[in-house]
Amino acid sequence: MSESALIFETMADDDCTYCDEGTLELRSYKDNDAIVCDDCGTPAVQVW
Ligand SMILES: [Zn+2]
Repeated sequence: MSESALIFETMADDDCTYCDEGTLELRSYKDNDAIVCDDCGTPAVQVW
């Protein structure tokens, strides 16, 4: 497992730090893998 995948595994399902309701999920963001809030859509981690 790559280091970035390990970060995703750690962060996915965490609570969003930008809103009260959101949960972080792995999602494609601007053609890159990222951890994005499922409620407000704020990217928490993005790997290029
Ligand atoms: Zn959020």
